[in-house]
Amino acid sequence: MGNLTLQEQLALRAQLTFKRNAYWRGENGPFCSRCLDTEMKLVRLHQDGPDLTPYCPSCRTQARDPNRPPDPPGRAITGDEGGEYDWMKN
Ligand SMILES: [Zn+2]
Repeated sequence: MGNLTLQEQLALRAQLTFKRNAYWRGENGPFCSRCLDTEMKLVRLHQDGPDLTPYCPSCRTQARDPNRPPDPPGRAITGDEGGEYDWMKN
């Protein structure tokens, strides 16, 4: 990547589809939309974190799936909330 001619860039883009806030090349992907649109770089997104949101290791853009339903309330309680286990510390 990096020194593609305009023709090569257009050919590459013709192979890509944009879905779920990222680019896909058939079954390959997702790739970062920001890095491709601004720098013509295909950067494969990584999945990390509690909800496995794909993110770009280069520019940290997150590709959150717009069709993904929000987590039901009460499922993602972090350690600092609740407090019903305070008695265990004593
Ligand atoms: Zn990126």
